[in-house]
Amino acid sequence: MNAHPHQPPATESQHLFDRALAVIPGGVNSPVRAFGAVGGTPRFMASGAGAYLTDVDGNRYVDMVCSWGPLILGHSHPAVVEAAEQALRRGASFGAPSVGEVELAEEMVARVAPLEQVRLVSSGTEATMSAIRLARGFTGRGKVVKFAGCYHGHVDALLAAAGSGVATFALPDTPGVTGAQAADTIVLPYNDTQAVKAAFEAHGAEIACLITEAAPGNMGIVPPRPGFNRFLADICRAHGALFISDEVMTGFRASREGMYGIDGVAPDLMTFGKVMGGGFPASAFGGRADVMGHLAPAGPVYQAGTLSGNPVATAAGLATLRHCTPDVYSHLDSVAHQIAELTSEALAKEGVPHTVQFAGTMFSVHFTDGPVQDYEDAKKQDSKAYAEFFHAMLDHGVYLPPSAFEAWFVSAAHDAAAVEIIADALPHAARAAAAADNH
Ligand SMILES: *Cc1c(COP(=O)(O)O)cnc(C)c1O
Repeated sequence: MNAHPHQPPATESQHLFDRALAVIPGGVNSPVRAFGAVGGTPRFMASGAGAYLTDVDGNRYVDMVCSWGPLILGHSHPAVVEAAEQALRRGASFGAPSVGEVELAEEMVARVAPLEQVRLVSSGTEATMSAIRLARGFTGRGKVVKFAGCYHGHVDALLAAAGSGVATFALPDTPGVTGAQAADTIVLPYNDTQAVKAAFEAHGAEIACLITEAAPGNMGIVPPRPGFNRFLADICRAHGALFISDEVMTGFRASREGMYGIDGVAPDLMTFGKVMGGGFPASAFGGRADVMGHLAPAGPVYQAGTLSGNPVATAAGLATLRHCTPDVYSHLDSVAHQIAELTSEALAKEGVPHTVQFAGTMFSVHFTDGPVQDYEDAKKQDSKAYAEFFHAMLDHGVYLPPSAFEAWFVSAAHDAAAVEIIADALPHAARAAAAADNH
């Protein structure tokens, strides 16, 4: 059983990772979990409660990942557990319509004004993939505009980010995506209105849609410049292209109505995931009813899913959204600012270059002087300093995202006690980051 019989693994996490490496590529089911960017052995988690994760060796951490966003109420929130348990007792899946799908769709449509209709799917990737197919089917056009550093799931056509600061046709980011699959994707630098104008001037009549993260969170948080999303919506409308706002991360998280609740820019289509599933696989895309009407079976654009609208996932998602009261959002806002300020103070004290950026209640710490306005800026980060910072925080009981290019997430369960653990860990981590810088 043991991969190293003469040298027993130091920890249960190491032991499990060894087993995982034998049967799962890289030992994980989603790459960033492997700690590749920070080094060391990933922690295998045994349980989560409120703001805390406990690993298989019994170490407890304040969780600043919250499953990459979904767990806005914290781990194992009683109302979410109860809703999922009750749904499961009624049946895990029917392959036929059920009430939970209608209730979750109604709750989402009631909250987000531009959302007239939604189609439920199982992952954010499926949501963006389907939204783009629908945009192409609706407009009869082929090209898609995206921004470097924006992540929209692992959709073939969207796994492309050109390096230069001018409009370029995309080269695939990964083997397995053909040139043809990426050839209709135009990648532009984020926050760059001139580049967007130039792309629409050159290709406007062929552009089916522009997709953007409502506020990018997958290169760390890089908020849109004031008016940028409005400009995108307007230029799309002027050229008959659809404007797709990817709110998989920001939806029901940046504010009660996501980034839409902050900038008020109405997209033609939106995508959701993460929070709306309450920790279960429920995601969605939706928007204008006349566009959504082109989707099968109402219209000709095909889209389907065996587990779409799953009763357990929709019950957990609905319970989560219903417990996301205005009080929850004001708590997230204040606790996020508190932690951001503590982090910034600790790093400043040790002279570590950094920039804290917010999008509503979401924030991240870029390990570089700011402002960070696009992917080129974000890539200037000192990943080595972050790796040292990350491991010192981990050793002191705080689980940060295992990459410098990720948002930090808090939940309604992050209380004063959790903040105190973070505050106590920060001086050690800031010193470790400073030591990395001095090499
Ligand atoms: C997480 C994320 C996705 C992909 O969602 P999955 O459920 O991981 O497929 C898409 N877009 C954005 C903005 C995301 O943050």
